[in-house]
Amino acid sequence: MIVSKKMSNLTHNLLNWYSKNKRQFPWRVKKNIENPYYVWVSEVMLQQTNANTVINYYKKFIKNWPTIYSLSKAKLDSVLFQWQGLGYYNRAVNLHKTAKIISKKFNGKIPKNYETLIQLPGIGEYTANAILAIAYNKNTIGVDVNINRVISRLYNLNSDNNKSEISKKIYTLLPINKCSNFMQALMDLGSEICRKKSVNCLICPIKKYCHFYNEKKEINFDALKDKKRKFLFVYLIKYKNQIILKKRKKTKFLHGLMEIPNNLLNNKPSLKVAKQNAPLNLDWKTLPGKLNSKISNFELEIRFFQAQVEKKITLKNTVWVKKNEIQKIPISSLMRNILYYLNPT
Ligand code: SF4
Repeated sequence: MIVSKKMSNLTHNLLNWYSKNKRQFPWRVKKNIENPYYVWVSEVMLQQTNANTVINYYKKFIKNWPTIYSLSKAKLDSVLFQWQGLGYYNRAVNLHKTAKIISKKFNGKIPKNYETLIQLPGIGEYTANAILAIAYNKNTIGVDVNINRVISRLYNLNSDNNKSEISKKIYTLLPINKCSNFMQALMDLGSEICRKKSVNCLICPIKKYCHFYNEKKEINFDALKDKKRKFLFVYLIKYKNQIILKKRKKTKFLHGLMEIPNNLLNNKPSLKVAKQNAPLNLDWKTLPGKLNSKISNFELEIRFFQAQVEKKITLKNTVWVKKNEIQKIPISSLMRNILYYLNPT
C-alpha cells in the first residue's frame, strides 16, 4: 500500500478537528490507549455495540481482569456472565481463548504484526489493523462501517462493493506516526457528523475536499432504514417450579450461554407449524401474547409455547433450574427479558 509522505490538507484539518472535538471515553485515557490489551478489549466490545453502552462494560471488565494474564486465568462462565447484555457472545469466548494463547505463546504481549494477529481467534482484518493503528501507532487503519461511509462519500465511491478503492484512498491520507489519532478522528467524524441517516456537512472539517458536499448530493435516508424481521419461537418446559435451560454449543452467536429451547426463523410460519417444529414431542400449549424486540439490525417477533411434564426429562446440554438460580447463570439479555416476561416459576 502507498502511504503518502506528506500530510495532506484534508488529514491536517481532520486531525486538528479531532484534537478539539474528540469524544471522551475511558479507553481513550492516555494510560489506556497505550495499553494494547485495553485497546483490544475496547475494540472488540465496540464491534456491533454502541460506544455509550460499552463504557460500563469496559470499566468492569478492566477492573475484573486488568491484565491479559488475569483474563487468561478467568473461568469462561465468569467472562460470559460479565458480558451479559453486550450481545454477540462469541466475542467474549474469543477474547478469552486469545488471552490464553497470548499469555502462553507471546509472554502476555499482544503481537505487533498483522500476520500474527490475524491468526488469533476473533481477530479479523479490522481488529488487527485497529490494534496496530490505535495501540501501536503503526501506519495502517482498521476500516469500520463509519470510516467506510465517510471515505465513500468523500470520494464518491460505492460503499458496498468498493473495498479495495476505499482502502487505496485511505492509505494516501494516512499521516505517518499519527495513525492512532487519524483512525479515531475518522471514527468520530462518521459517528457524530457524517452519520448513516443524517449528515451535518456544514460543520464538517473536511467538506472542502468532499465530493458529496461539493456536488450537493442528497442522501435518500428513507432507503437506509432497515426493515429486516425475524421470528423467534420459544418452548418452555416446566416441571413443578423448575424449567429447562439449554446450553448453546458451537453456534456463531451467544456460544456457551444458557437459554430456553427455541427456534429462530427468517420467515413466519403459522402457530400450528411452529408447534409441530417444537424440539420435543410434548403436549405444547400456545401461550397468549407476543414480545417485540430489536436486535442489532433486525426486529424480532417472539411467540411462546409451554409444556408441563409429569417427571423430569433428561436432555443433552440442559439443566433444570429454579427461578432464584437463574440470576447466577450466564444468559443473554434477550433471554433474560423473555424469562422476565414469562415469569415461569
Ligand atoms: S462533507 Fe458531509 S458528506 Fe462529506 S464527509 Fe463531511 S459530513 Fe460526510
